Amino acid sequence: MTNRTTYRVLAAATALLALGAGAGCSSGDAAGADPQRVDVVAAFYPLQFLAERIGGDAVRVTNLAKPGAEPHDLELNPSQVGQVSDAELIVYLKGFQPAVDDAVAQNGGDRAFDVTSVQPLLDATAGGHDHEGEEGHTEESGGKDPHVWLDPTRLAGIGDQLAQRLGKADAAHAADYTARAAALRADLTTLDGEFKQGLATCQRREIVTSHAAFGYLADRYQLDQVGITGLSPDVEPSPQRLAHVIEEAKEHQATTIFFETLVSPKVAETIAGQVGAKTAVLDPIEGLAAGSNGDYLSVMRTNLQTLQTALSCS
Ligand SMILES: [Zn+2]
Ligand SMILES: [Zn+2]
Repeated sequence: MTNRTTYRVLAAATALLALGAGAGCSSGDAAGADPQRVDVVAAFYPLQFLAERIGGDAVRVTNLAKPGAEPHDLELNPSQVGQVSDAELIVYLKGFQPAVDDAVAQNGGDRAFDVTSVQPLLDATAGGHDHEGEEGHTEESGGKDPHVWLDPTRLAGIGDQLAQRLGKADAAHAADYTARAAALRADLTTLDGEFKQGLATCQRREIVTSHAAFGYLADRYQLDQVGITGLSPDVEPSPQRLAHVIEEAKEHQATTIFFETLVSPKVAETIAGQVGAKTAVLDPIEGLAAGSNGDYLSVMRTNLQTLQTALSCS
């Protein structure tokens, strides 16, 4: 065979391989579709943010929750179950999204990274509002609060462990993952400093929130959360609960009742009307709003400004 013939045969073989790879992709995003990058599946936005910041261009990240969709009650379609099966790494928060927990239990093998293994979850009452002799605000009694990403320092700890885990899956880039996690930690430490300083001196510390998503934020910055609903936004508050929240809002002279981008503001508006308060968005960053070009850091900074205004911080 001449060199020229060899080349042609190789070219034909390469074309066939490319076709084969293309056909393999048609049923979904098969692992190895991009052999140059680690296929990571993230269960919802803050974990996508972590994986993208730490993975950089060495990973390809798929978010199971779509922008603009509330992720607590996420359902997985068959192609997403396939993504979980095929991913090289699945980043999820056990106890937050039952459908993801199920898919991981069935198909996750040892490729799943449960962020609660890094940051044990607080009880649902942590950071919650309590009067002496009154029962706490646990509607799901004995429940654990999954909203751990709203404390930037806890998120940084998860990022460090994610870097280690990526380094095991892809040893060639281990040092890059560690370096990017350190850079992210620096950003989150700056953010934490801004929150500490920005919320140091406020006239009020009670926050009336749409659902009880801000326990870790309250815990970190000594705020006091009154959740209109419990840990899940899709549970309608009872009339008794509504009456209690209205009473609390009046007692603590709340100027603002917070609602969320991904959940209807109706209940917050009703309460605000009853107590003569305004409403404002306090974003639990469970997902980005559709069309948003912000990220975790920018949305957190908007949250800080919102809190400073609502709580009259100086
Ligand atoms: Zn939530
Ligand atoms: Zn109170």
